[in-house]
Amino acid sequence: MNFLHLLPVGNVEAAWLEGLRPALAQAFGVPCRLLPGALDPAFAFQPNRQQYHSTEILDRLRARLQPDTWRLLGVTSADLCIPILTFVFGEAQLNGACALVSTHRLRQEFYGLPPDPALLRDRLLKEAIHELGHTLELQHCDDYTCAMAAAHAVEWIDLRSPGFCQHCRARILSQQAEKQWVSAR
Ligand SMILES: [Zn+2]
Ligand SMILES: [Zn+2]
Repeated sequence: MNFLHLLPVGNVEAAWLEGLRPALAQAFGVPCRLLPGALDPAFAFQPNRQQYHSTEILDRLRARLQPDTWRLLGVTSADLCIPILTFVFGEAQLNGACALVSTHRLRQEFYGLPPDPALLRDRLLKEAIHELGHTLELQHCDDYTCAMAAAHAVEWIDLRSPGFCQHCRARILSQQAEKQWVSAR
């Protein structure tokens, strides 16, 4: 049995991870478990930007893969960036095993608004599904309601549904069928 593993990156409230667990298990049809411990993202801190380099954290997540890991999702409250972008909500290895999401810019407080825990939970789930979709070789989708739609602002995440459109779903299924065929040979 292979698991979708969740790992806190830095200080993340356990409630956020616990909240993601059943929803992600349902979305991907695999059991979802929390790994013990956490990854300290201090090594990826960029003093000039006061942000954390997302790709470096993603690379480091690979060392936390277990023999029974299907995918590993890191969850952080740190503000993430990559050199060419002012920020990222998350990042994933295209067709790899690791993905990373941040709650930092999903919080209403970041935009000077009152906290909304239910909205934050929704956004975190949608962003987690999006990044895990990249690990399944999915690229950005033109359907703005699809979990794989690109988002350069948090409002765009709110337009997404927490699931894949028919087209993206069909792509995942055909890839799985292809892999089973290959492994059956
Ligand atoms: Zn994306
Ligand atoms: Zn789609």
